[in-house]
Amino acid sequence: MTTRSFDLVVIGGGSGGLACAQRAAEYGAKIALIEADRLGGTCVNVGCVPKKVMWNAAQIAHAAHDAAHYGFELTLGRHDWRALQLARDAYVQRLNGIYERNLANKKIELVRGRGHFVGAGEVRVDEQTLAAPQVVIATGGRPSIPPIPGAEFGVTSDGFFALQAKPERVAIVGSGYIAVEIAGVFAALGSKVSLVIRQDRVLRSFDSMLGDGLMKIMRDEGIEIVTQAVPRALGRDVDASLRLLTVDGRTVGPFDCVVWAIGREPMVEDMGLDRAGVRLDASGHIAVDPLQQTNVGGIHAIGDVTGRALLTPVAIAAGRRLADRVFSGMTDRYLDYSNIPTVVFSHPPIGTVGLSEQEARDRYGAESLKIYTSGFVPMYHALTTRKPRAEMKLITMGPEQRIVGCHVIGAGADEMLQGFAVALKMGATKRDFDDTVAIHPTSAEEFVTMR
Ligand SMILES: Cc1cc2nc3c(=O)[nH]c(=O)nc-3n(C[C@H](O)[C@H](O)[C@H](O)COP(=O)(O)OP(=O)(O)OC[C@H]3O[C@@H](n4cnc5c(N)ncnc54)[C@H](O)[C@@H]3O)c2cc1C
Repeated sequence: MTTRSFDLVVIGGGSGGLACAQRAAEYGAKIALIEADRLGGTCVNVGCVPKKVMWNAAQIAHAAHDAAHYGFELTLGRHDWRALQLARDAYVQRLNGIYERNLANKKIELVRGRGHFVGAGEVRVDEQTLAAPQVVIATGGRPSIPPIPGAEFGVTSDGFFALQAKPERVAIVGSGYIAVEIAGVFAALGSKVSLVIRQDRVLRSFDSMLGDGLMKIMRDEGIEIVTQAVPRALGRDVDASLRLLTVDGRTVGPFDCVVWAIGREPMVEDMGLDRAGVRLDASGHIAVDPLQQTNVGGIHAIGDVTGRALLTPVAIAAGRRLADRVFSGMTDRYLDYSNIPTVVFSHPPIGTVGLSEQEARDRYGAESLKIYTSGFVPMYHALTTRKPRAEMKLITMGPEQRIVGCHVIGAGADEMLQGFAVALKMGATKRDFDDTVAIHPTSAEEFVTMR
């Protein structure tokens, strides 16, 4: 058994761990980064990156459908799912290689294997012990699987990316962003899709306008939405088709594939957290303070494993700020988790930042708010038979009408929101929006012309 000493040991080579290690390396720290699987973590291998490739494919399918209305005579052949999968996976593999080279260039030692604590500042990987005064836990999460009979017949988002062919009939169980994104991809690429949700609306943690708008568009595009459906069991027929049984006695199906998209859980097992004395919070995530510090001095946690805003740029920002603070003496560096913008890559996409209308009411009282909305069919669809509407909402607060929420569903929302998020973070008011000259003809201009 060998013990080697470092300034920093990072457990997990995903978005947060890589960002933290690389920033710390810029300050000259001696670092070991432990990764049990493929470098890049969830985002690169089974998350944002392959998901965006699939979303792009779905966008192309929609454009191909719309092309005739713009005068193109296109004869579309069959879509080759396997070819798309292989091209996508080759791209991801290239990224894995780039990440590995980046670590080598920054002289960060990559240790392959599963890390677990043997003491507060000591992490073991197979036969070696890595000791450091600073340890960062960045082990991310994995998809949840419901504890019901037959759950093993379904796949998770990881299994979605492993599919080698398009299932003809597919159910996605879940109402969060991953569920609606996967449903949209399948539908655009020609599967018959059922979205099975526990309550009445998708995206319930977002402003209600977004979920309502998306459900209408999904139904118009032929996606079946099965509401108030809590799965009780998943059964497999002799012909291998799947049927979902619900708690209230309904049978939904048959399907060729069922995808569980019901949430994610932190990777905290078998890590020897008890040996290091690291505490979890009530939801089973690693409990951290605003500086990403656990209850044990010198042990920090960042990203999905902490359960706050499960997004790649959040994990990266937390990791970089932590490295700035610990290795460069920037004592005031920490991540402010308010006003984090995010995009749902549905069809059409959704962009959102700040408070939902309900959250704003709860926080400030309805009488302090003034809400501006706009709904329209984007100009792109003036010529097409598909008419998905765009909906936009600005939530303002107080006499100065500070913008506290900015929400949009509609074509282009994904690329629209980043700039508005800057404005929100800077404390922009409705007056600032009104004083900004519109860019015409765009959907985004509605945000600065609302009355
Ligand atoms: C389908 C899907 C789509 C998504 N789309 C988006 C999106 O569009 N935009 C966005 O911002 N976010 C998206 N996310 C979320 C994003 O992927 C995560 O928020 C992000 O990857 C979290 O980074 P992390 O560093 O906390 O963890 P991860 O990226 O999960 O990295 C954790 C790493 O730790 C490793 N590990 C775990 N335990 C150990 C151990 N004991 N020893 C060694 N290594 C270990 C794992 O193998 C993994 O590589 C998506 C997620 C999913 C599942």
